[in-house]
Amino acid sequence: MCAAAPTDRKRAKAPRTPMPEQPAKVRVGNFGEVALGYTPDMALAEAARCLRCKKPACVAGCPVGIDIPGFIAALADGDPRRAYAVIRQTNSLPAVCGRVCPQETQCEQACILGKKHEPVAIGRLERYVADAFLADDACEELTGAPACPAGLEDVRVACIGAGPASLTVAGSLAARGIGVDVYEALHEPGGVLVYGIPEFRLPKAVVGREVAAMRDLGVRFFTNWVGGRTVTVPELLEKGYRAVFIGVGAGLPTFLNIPGENLIGVFSANEYLTRVNLGRAYAFPDWDTPVYPGKRVVVFGAGNVALDAARTAARLGAERVAIVYRRTENEMPARREEIHHAKEEGIELFCLHAPLSFTGDAQGRLVSVLLQKMRLGEPDDSGRCRPLACEGEFCELATDMAVVAVGTRANPLLPRTTPGLATNRWGYIGVDEATGETNIPNVFAGGDIVTGAATVISAMGAGRRAAATIAGRLLA
Ligand code: FAD
Ligand code: SF4
Repeated sequence: MCAAAPTDRKRAKAPRTPMPEQPAKVRVGNFGEVALGYTPDMALAEAARCLRCKKPACVAGCPVGIDIPGFIAALADGDPRRAYAVIRQTNSLPAVCGRVCPQETQCEQACILGKKHEPVAIGRLERYVADAFLADDACEELTGAPACPAGLEDVRVACIGAGPASLTVAGSLAARGIGVDVYEALHEPGGVLVYGIPEFRLPKAVVGREVAAMRDLGVRFFTNWVGGRTVTVPELLEKGYRAVFIGVGAGLPTFLNIPGENLIGVFSANEYLTRVNLGRAYAFPDWDTPVYPGKRVVVFGAGNVALDAARTAARLGAERVAIVYRRTENEMPARREEIHHAKEEGIELFCLHAPLSFTGDAQGRLVSVLLQKMRLGEPDDSGRCRPLACEGEFCELATDMAVVAVGTRANPLLPRTTPGLATNRWGYIGVDEATGETNIPNVFAGGDIVTGAATVISAMGAGRRAAATIAGRLLA
């Protein structure tokens, strides 16, 4: 099954190379990156653990099918440029994915070495390659190869939204010489990569580097531009765009719908993280975006968003931060690594509790939240144990700030202003899965606006499929 030489087998048994990190007590006082990245020696040691399997299960576990043994072999041979080119064949944002993709449930979960030993640290190696490689020009940055064709002046495509789905479409088409204009509602491109995921997990400079390479290849970004308000999809097609890609995400917050949710001090995670990240409130007063100074903070939810909000509050000076979740830690959907880091940073997990109501003072400021104690019942349709209320058992938590991170949904603005666009009953846009095309010819969609809240890599996979279809049509 595997092509490893006996000496490699010995190396494979070596423990996984740990990631250097800022110590928890230090990093909780700053917004610098938690994980510091491998040194060249660490990367070589980890790359040597790969068995170079003939039938690599890791590739099947990667949503965009990166040639994982291929890039690791190039790295082990001391050729990060070739390693980068291999990754870039299928992944447009390796420095991003190497930092935030849930490898533990994808490629690393499938890694054959992981059956008897620890799996190869594929994500850490991907990040190392992306950070180590220095492109000579924008084309090489976007493709791994210095051979982008000249732009086709009269062939332009519009993308609405500038998250990973649209950025993938833009980068792929620009590298093939097709002109792309990206229209973004916020004042900076990047989507959740800049407004949601905090600096300590994904520095804005990493996203900025990708966007800069696209600009250099002729992609035009129009910010503060709301699709469905400033201009509609039919108007874009009338203006002469040969195709329109809708990548507007699913950023409309879901609320708890309990009494007191309008009190001062209760925020949606979306508002809180956008203010801190995109508005750079973490650098107040150097940046003039103030942020609410919660001291006893409660966060509702158990995904990456909840953990990001909790860890952000801790960094902004909160004395106590608790995550309230109605199931147990085992059922938390957040990445294991993030849960581990959050606990190291002193975030409390208040499991088996659900919020019932918020209480405020005479000025309308939040002072406490009433919680219902829960227990686990039988598994539901998702396979997770159903949370059940423990009748008559309550507790009250004193708090001056609450962040609601219990999910998001589709914003109906674009579908409503695009006559005839087919959506499902939750408002997500329907597409042909193989091509990404909607029921309207030459109108494509992908990412969270099609799947509901998912992952960076799945949004990029959708962008890749749509870009391949658009390019195939326009360059035929
Ligand atoms: P988005 O990233 O949401 O981008 C959509 C863009 O469209 C936004 O910039 C938005 O402003 C813009 N837009 C919306 N409406 C309009 C309009 N009408 N006109 C113009 N522009 C518009 N995934 C992971 O894989 N790993 C993680 O660790 C992880 N952590 C996360 C942490 C947080 C806090 C959040 C919120 C999400 C996280 N995710 C994570 C999920 C991941 O970021 C998303 O699945 C992914 O970003 C979806 O990409 P997208 O391009 O579809 O949409
Ligand atoms: Fe095999 Fe794991 Fe290496 Fe993939 S990463 S080739 S599955 S040892």
